[in-house]
Amino acid sequence: MATAVETMTQFMDVLKRYSNDTTTSGITILDNAVREVSRFNSLQEAIDSFVNDVTDTSNGANVYERLNNTCGIIVGKDEDFTADTGAVSGYNAGGTEVKDAQSIVPEIGTMSDLSMPEAGSTTTHTYTGKDGKTFTFYIKWPQSFTQVEDRKWQTSKTYNPSAWTTEELTNQTFVSDLKNNEDTKTYTAAQFKSAIETITKGMYNWWAEESAKMIYDDYGLDFNGKTINVTFFANQEDTQADTAPLNKNNNDTTPADTIRMSFGLPIYGIIDSEDVNGDTRIEDGADQNYLDRTVAHEMVHAVMQASGTLKDYEGQNVPATMPEFFTEGVAELIMGLDDYDANNTASIIELANDRTKLADAMVLAGGTGTNIRYTSGYMFLRYLCWQNVDTQDLLAVIDSKGEDYIDDLLLQVLGGHSVTQSSMLKATDYLAPTSDFNVSAVEVQNSEAVYQFPDMDSIDPTLLYGSGV
Ligand SMILES: [Zn+2]
Repeated sequence: MATAVETMTQFMDVLKRYSNDTTTSGITILDNAVREVSRFNSLQEAIDSFVNDVTDTSNGANVYERLNNTCGIIVGKDEDFTADTGAVSGYNAGGTEVKDAQSIVPEIGTMSDLSMPEAGSTTTHTYTGKDGKTFTFYIKWPQSFTQVEDRKWQTSKTYNPSAWTTEELTNQTFVSDLKNNEDTKTYTAAQFKSAIETITKGMYNWWAEESAKMIYDDYGLDFNGKTINVTFFANQEDTQADTAPLNKNNNDTTPADTIRMSFGLPIYGIIDSEDVNGDTRIEDGADQNYLDRTVAHEMVHAVMQASGTLKDYEGQNVPATMPEFFTEGVAELIMGLDDYDANNTASIIELANDRTKLADAMVLAGGTGTNIRYTSGYMFLRYLCWQNVDTQDLLAVIDSKGEDYIDDLLLQVLGGHSVTQSSMLKATDYLAPTSDFNVSAVEVQNSEAVYQFPDMDSIDPTLLYGSGV
């Protein structure tokens, strides 16, 4: 039994064994990883069980209850930015700390105090993991912060980086989307310059290092000695950001030394220049999310490309690629999707209510940009990790921490602090045979579960600290 972080670290340890292997199918590698961390004998078996459990109403007639019982997912309320994000290290996934939309990628200080790196320079960045190990990586900045990469409105089918050109920002205007005129936003060159400055400051000072640290602490993958080339682009639809290994042949999935990370100004062209999280939910903005979370997502791709753990193959006659639901879901899991930020929750609920749609989203096909597979892959990994979070282990931890700890825990619950519904239900199941200790669920409204405990003085402490617990 294990925490979600331990499960994912063990999962990634299996992928690391294939770092320099470019012939084993990505699906075979995932089969081996699933076998190692769970009771399932293959990836497909785990997928089938996941689709069944999440949509089976015997696991909870109410979709919120079902998501909680099967995955530990607690769907956040609309406009609530204090809910746990469901990140692998956070509270909903079995961790001890609530990590919300703002705290999941931590920043200290204010934007206005931050400096810019020199254009064209390479800067050095270090981070120290929770095990005390320190790592160094580099960021190469664009030759100018007043230029953008013109992507010529290429689609995934016509994608051709060699045709991209560099454009100086003078007094042009840009649009966010040529095809969907209703949602098209118009940006000025001045807005792009300002957005580039805000994103650069966040990346230079906080977001890249904090994301790299989180990925090391939660997945066990480091970014030591690697370089990110940061660029900014215009004239491409619907891409928040992307990463690609540089100086590598197609289908060479061995560790890359340099990764390009590009930020999409059609989406991040308007961003709050004061908000440390990179808030784009401002007037005339694209109403997306906090950019620091997107950086954490992109950094998962970058770190996996740099460690040879991302097996992404294109074209015919090459080994099966890792499916999109995994490659994108694992990037979402680092920062979570349980909360309202970026409007994730509607998609989770929709999938948990529609067995066919969920099964379709779990297809073993590669790719990127299929939104629904980001969500389904995230849910799947939460499910896989949740199988290993054992209530008896949680109770043993509580037991080992003593009476003050359980008192605090109960006070937190009484104070309205959220406790995962299934943990509580399992805990009461466990206690029930030996006691008359009853938790009465008095209110289950939307995703918010409120539990009332009997008068604390009436609980016999031996039931909580007894030898069987
Ligand atoms: Zn991605």
